[in-house]
Amino acid sequence: MTIHSSKYQVATDEVDKSTYRSSYFNSPPLDVSLSFPQATPASIFPPCASDYYQFDDLLTPEERAVRIKVRECAEKELAPIMTKYWEKAEFPFEVVPKLSALHIAGATIKGYGCPGLSITGSAVATAELARVDASCSTFILVHSSLAMLNIALCGSEDQKQRYLPSLAQLKTIACWALTEPEYGSDASSLKTTATKVEGGWLLGGQKRWIGNSTFADVLVIFARNATTNQINGFIVKKDAPGLRATKIENKIGLRMVQNGDILLNKVFVPDEDRLPGVNSFQDTNKVLAVSRIMVAWQPIGISMGVYDMCHRYLKERKQFGAPLGAFQINQQKLVHMLGNVQAMILVGWRLCKLYESGKMTPGHASLGKSWITLKARETAAVGRELLGGNGILADFLVAKAFCDLEPIYTYEGTYDINSLVTGREITGLASFKPPALSNRSRL
Ligand SMILES: Cc1cc2nc3c(=O)[nH]c(=O)nc-3n(C[C@H](O)[C@H](O)[C@H](O)COP(=O)(O)OP(=O)(O)OC[C@H]3O[C@@H](n4cnc5c(N)ncnc54)[C@H](O)[C@@H]3O)c2cc1C
Repeated sequence: MTIHSSKYQVATDEVDKSTYRSSYFNSPPLDVSLSFPQATPASIFPPCASDYYQFDDLLTPEERAVRIKVRECAEKELAPIMTKYWEKAEFPFEVVPKLSALHIAGATIKGYGCPGLSITGSAVATAELARVDASCSTFILVHSSLAMLNIALCGSEDQKQRYLPSLAQLKTIACWALTEPEYGSDASSLKTTATKVEGGWLLGGQKRWIGNSTFADVLVIFARNATTNQINGFIVKKDAPGLRATKIENKIGLRMVQNGDILLNKVFVPDEDRLPGVNSFQDTNKVLAVSRIMVAWQPIGISMGVYDMCHRYLKERKQFGAPLGAFQINQQKLVHMLGNVQAMILVGWRLCKLYESGKMTPGHASLGKSWITLKARETAAVGRELLGGNGILADFLVAKAFCDLEPIYTYEGTYDINSLVTGREITGLASFKPPALSNRSRL
């Protein structure tokens, strides 16, 4: 498609400026991409051009099948509606049945109605969702790779039977609450308390940033045992008296994800809903080892989508009488992005293989997450340049992806904290606390 400059001229000339002013605030937002088309918007998602080194060859037939199934669903069901929901910062409940039909919730969990995917299968499903929409991939990741996996790895048999089957079908939704207003990177110091009372526990405190929490049916919550001073895990139900979750407004990224501030005011949790496998902060690592791999695959998927969008755009949009893709500088930028994507895929894949063979260390996972996210940020920034003005419109994906990468750079351990985890592993020296504080306390 080419730019319709004459049409643009007529359209602006015809506008009565006073009418425009008075009706402006009552009208739905102008869809610029449709009014003055310059290239196909991301609602019609571009074909996948980013799989340059034929990653499919490294996948099993089952993993390839998952990849195709999720890609088709994301392109067909998510792409046409994602900009609208992202702009409104609303969660697209209408896609939950479609995501449920994919049978990817519960990912690597075996039994209890879960799909029992390989870690690589789960990773490619995460990436394919993120390629089209990072918010939807975060929704599934929090639900599946954090909350469900925590129940599967640290829950009793009774808890698994009671919660996992309906979570696997997305009939109920879960969230995972570790972070607090005062304890983000320093989550091991969390202050929410769990006090033993007859028949159960009373939870008191606050949680912040918790994805899905405004509508989750099941909340996995971490609190400090008032007797042992150790971290314990609890399954809290949505309607528990004393529980309140409020949406955090005005986010610039992952706008469809409903992140909440949670208040826990003497919330009673029966004994049967304390997770028996969470007895110290170290036990959260059972889950974080897997979820950090999944989070690393989000920026891979996002970067694939950005590359695919730019690849199509550069062929469609013309300047100086030629497609943008004909200019050497633009080709160089596209190849820069493509190189990044290939390297990110291969690092992400190797991470999965290390995990599958039992060789993955915390340092491996942290380096994967931090380095891949860094490269994704670089890739999206180059892509944003390539789209010119349309590079700041959510309609063409890249601006949205650019913003969505920011929270991913920060959550599941910031870039800095993950670097320090790997740094500690390769030097044997922990540097999380300033030396004066480290001497006085243990990390
Ligand atoms: C969109 C979004 C979704 C989230 N979802 C969830 C969720 O579902 N569940 C959940 O429990 N949490 C969630 N989080 C919380 C997330 O994990 C934290 O935001 C993250 O761990 C960082 O904590 P913080 O924001 O408090 O930053 P801080 O810890 O205050 O860090 C601020 C800055 O200081 C740096 N810094 C901190 N300590 C050090 C150090 N020792 N050395 C060097 N640099 C340091 C950090 O790298 C960062 O740059 C989410 C966050 C976001 C933004």
